[in-house]
Amino acid sequence: MIFPEGRDIGILLIQGKRVARPGKNAAGQRGHHPYQGLGGTCASVPPKGKSMHMRGSLRIHPIHNFAIARVSRFAARGAALWRHVRRPVSVLMFTLLLSAFCWSTASPSRAMGIGQQFNEAYREFHSLAKDTKRKRFRSHWEDVEALFNAVYSRNPKGEYAPKALYYNGRVYEEMGAVSFVDSDYAKAVDYYHRAAERFPTHTWIDDCLYRAGVLLRDKLDNPAGAHRDFLAVVREHPDGDMRERAQRALNELDATAAQQQAAAPRPRPVSTADGPAHLDMIRYRSSDDYTRVVLEMDHPVEYVYKFLDPIPEKGKGHRVYIDLRNARMGADIDRNVRISDGILRGYRVGQNDAQTTRVVLDLLKYQDHKVFHLDNPFRIVVDVYSPDKPPSSATAQQSIPEDAAKRYEDVDPQDLVKVLGLTIKTVMIDAGHGAHDKGAAHNGLYEKDINLTVAKEVGALLEKEGFHVLYTRTDDTFVPLEERTAMANMSKVDLFLSLHCNAFRKSSIRGFETYSLSLKSSSEQARRVAARENGVQPHQISDLQFILADLVLNSKVEESSDLAEDIQRNVVRHVRGKYGIRDHGHRHAPFYVLMGAKMPAVLVEMGYLTNRHDAANLGSAKYRRRIAEGIVKGVLAYKKRIESFAMN
Ligand SMILES: [Zn+2]
Repeated sequence: MIFPEGRDIGILLIQGKRVARPGKNAAGQRGHHPYQGLGGTCASVPPKGKSMHMRGSLRIHPIHNFAIARVSRFAARGAALWRHVRRPVSVLMFTLLLSAFCWSTASPSRAMGIGQQFNEAYREFHSLAKDTKRKRFRSHWEDVEALFNAVYSRNPKGEYAPKALYYNGRVYEEMGAVSFVDSDYAKAVDYYHRAAERFPTHTWIDDCLYRAGVLLRDKLDNPAGAHRDFLAVVREHPDGDMRERAQRALNELDATAAQQQAAAPRPRPVSTADGPAHLDMIRYRSSDDYTRVVLEMDHPVEYVYKFLDPIPEKGKGHRVYIDLRNARMGADIDRNVRISDGILRGYRVGQNDAQTTRVVLDLLKYQDHKVFHLDNPFRIVVDVYSPDKPPSSATAQQSIPEDAAKRYEDVDPQDLVKVLGLTIKTVMIDAGHGAHDKGAAHNGLYEKDINLTVAKEVGALLEKEGFHVLYTRTDDTFVPLEERTAMANMSKVDLFLSLHCNAFRKSSIRGFETYSLSLKSSSEQARRVAARENGVQPHQISDLQFILADLVLNSKVEESSDLAEDIQRNVVRHVRGKYGIRDHGHRHAPFYVLMGAKMPAVLVEMGYLTNRHDAANLGSAKYRRRIAEGIVKGVLAYKKRIESFAMN
């Protein structure tokens, strides 16, 4: 057993009423939502003002990418529409769902019977768990599983369904503890995930996800999966009683990953291999939601970081420190910098001992934070999120007060597009690479130059179409990858286009491809391209994937995917008539430059410089013009797509 029995949710369900068992907690005291899940009778539907929980049932679940649509008529359009018009329809949706629930699930006589049935299964589970002899036989557990399955199938949308799934997860945990067979633990995880997918807002789901996370971490050797589940507890169930444990588990996982990453051998520049590394520069950038601090080193170092609790008697608040091993402070580093941006008070730097440089960030209060490093050049990035706007509420779950929503009820849909900003006004164009970072260099061409030329061309065309255009660079300068996304977020642009050229060891490969962000690569080629653009070796991609998982979850993955489709289709259609162009389609991969972008963001690979046809084309102004026109057509198609969603 992983958990003491005291963690059990000690409730007997008698005739649909909750009765606390003596000596155990009642569900009402668990600090969760004041109602028993979505599938209950009308009496269990939350009062007004709790509409955010209802809304969740039509949302595409960000962790499992699973659309839960209970009202099928709204499902197909609802999910798509929802991404673009969350705000004005929330009140309407609430009303519709409320009536749909009452209509479809109110059936008191059946609920009585099913409650007793659940109680029976519940009692069997606990008596078997206590019986040291009987619990060693698989068949007894399978009987209990069958009891809970019967409860589940009797009403798969009812209030006992998520509880039955939860208990079957527990059944397989018990079996695993006896059998030591991985597949039992995997089955337990499967039950917990099914519960989370089907009943994302039910009050037991944080328990399901936390338990799944523990099994993935401790039994199934899947820290990335565990990370996802713990993160889901923190992000999706911030009011639940598992939040703190999950946050602790996350911090431990992050720290382990950072240590492993730091300990991994990496190439060092020959000239500096023997001396200590130097902390050359510290830069930071504040946005509404987070402050990003970047420590730039002259070569890679091992580092550790730690979160420190406040010491009020010494006047010290929450802090994060980063120790750089075998490192010295550079001569130009300020030792004490005030930031005071509402997120960070500031930072301090000192030589902790002869070998260790310590950077301390002073936080306003307890804040979500993330530490990771990037290569070429080696730098350590610390993101500290605003205490007022945790990352999840800042992007994924925008809510609107009811009185504000009412104001939009009488507004003409065409005006609504403008009022709510459901259109594309500002586009940031990112010409990949720059200065010493040339990108691909083949057949006499530098990628950085072609990217910049096309970027300016796309920008000029977009301005003609009435867009406001911003650039990450307009000349041959170096801009680090993490700066580019931060610039887009700070300027609150509506779209982010990153332009690149490709390369491959086989010169016969040619083609045009558009990427949107995802944790997994759509193919081995996609993964290789992402590694090249991220400036790491392909095998290092997985570290980045794992550490940055939540940046991906908070990105506009669906919208970016739509945008990538539109650009790919329009470029190929526009260029194909005049030139040979291979359509490699829309792909996805974990590109660092797209991570954390709060707007739809894509990366365009305009062709392979290693291929002489593609290189000859990209070397010609007419071809580049054609590509730029195609990209603009893609942006216009996407704009139209958004506006038609808002108005239909
Ligand atoms: Zn590139």
